[in-house]
Amino acid sequence: MRNRSAKILATVGPASAAPDTLRLLHDVGVDAFRLNFSHGSHDDHARSVKAIRDIQKTSGNPITIVADMQGPKLRCGEFEGGQIELRYGDTVEIIKSTDHGKDGVITMPHQELMDAMEEGHVLKFDDGKLMVTILSNDGKSLKARVDVPGILKNKKGINVIGAVLPMSAMTKKDRIDMAFALTQDVDYIALSFVQTAQDVIDARKIIGDKAGIIVKIEKPSAVEFLDDILKVADAAMVARGDLGVELPLEQVPVVQRQIIRKARALGKPVIVATHMLESMIDAPTPTRAEASDVATAIYQGADAVMLSAETAVGRHPATAVAIMDRIIGAAESDPEYWKYFKQVDLPHEATPEDAISQSVRGIVETLNCKAVLGYTLTGSTVQRISRERPPCKIICLTPRQTTASRLALSWGVTPVVTRDPTDFEAMLINIQGLAKSDRVSLKTGDKVMVTAGIPFGRPGTTNTLKITTIE
Ligand code: PGA
Ligand code: MN
Repeated sequence: MRNRSAKILATVGPASAAPDTLRLLHDVGVDAFRLNFSHGSHDDHARSVKAIRDIQKTSGNPITIVADMQGPKLRCGEFEGGQIELRYGDTVEIIKSTDHGKDGVITMPHQELMDAMEEGHVLKFDDGKLMVTILSNDGKSLKARVDVPGILKNKKGINVIGAVLPMSAMTKKDRIDMAFALTQDVDYIALSFVQTAQDVIDARKIIGDKAGIIVKIEKPSAVEFLDDILKVADAAMVARGDLGVELPLEQVPVVQRQIIRKARALGKPVIVATHMLESMIDAPTPTRAEASDVATAIYQGADAVMLSAETAVGRHPATAVAIMDRIIGAAESDPEYWKYFKQVDLPHEATPEDAISQSVRGIVETLNCKAVLGYTLTGSTVQRISRERPPCKIICLTPRQTTASRLALSWGVTPVVTRDPTDFEAMLINIQGLAKSDRVSLKTGDKVMVTAGIPFGRPGTTNTLKITTIE
């Protein structure tokens, strides 16, 4: 039983993929793992899924698995000699070709880029480290002026500034990876470089209800169409790595707040990602600014904070998780943290589910309830309760393993797999039985709230709220 509400999502990579390391990471605080399909083979990811599901089985803790698609990330080609130097003020040629580039010539395989570029558009290379401005486009080759010089290495990413490319958020590789991921018992598919709600709708046609969809907000158009995109997604990620290249850097904190607020208002889990404890890739402790950044995401109400390279390729994956756990714990021990949630008015829908979840906070505060236990098939009522950020544990009781593992990413939720009771009386007996288990860990005399849809077994019927005391 963790004693914090916000969750930790950690990326699996060479530094963490060994089953023993995954188990250690889970033990020190990881609630959810991200498989990054930009790297690794299908076999690697299948092995990770198996190892994580084994940990889930032996520990009894449902764990969320996120399969993160690479998306339409543009990359330059390779160079004779592995790299070239872009010198300030020089003109370089960019051509669509699978040949090697050389001094003064960059090759790349993307016709869409060739078609869309006009004078004045800007290209950034290698996470924004180098920058060129387009001078001309004759349809076969681009001429560009180097504004930010440096060394350009093989296959570095290209970000386009000032133009929207007519590319789907799903590439051929994504379709193959997604089909594979859906055979692998993952809880969420993360879509990279989403630009419009249509991108999500297209992906949903493939994914169906086999997994939830996390939209990675990392394009200016995703920020522009944020409301529409969030409506059709199941969860969101503030993907600050690419966002900070595609948008002026100073917009990242502004957009982060906005995404967290809007996602939470809709009751969709929101993850803050990238560079959170970046210096821990090498160092055994983070910078104070990094510690503060993690705490800020928590104070803003994020469901989860993410580790990327820190756990994928870093030297101290378990320490990074342990430190993140401590930072979250400290922020949540601050009474100011809880005050913020009281100040935000959430829009409520005219449903029994929202009427009940809305009342949770007031009841929990008035009676000093230690937990709200929600019986759920799909997890939707528990997700609505999580949205309210009540100051107590949220126990998600579900007969479905898939609901349990998906909800492990959501703020405050402790998922427990349990059979549905037959009726109301049986439910009250079950609650008493579950209450003192390790995962629920309630005590005699604790007041709790229970929500359920009676009769049991029908999705979307939450209609019952019971207050009871643990005997
Ligand atoms: P990535 O996504 O690590 O897959 O690029 C996260 C980000 O861009 O911040
Ligand atoms: Mn990204």
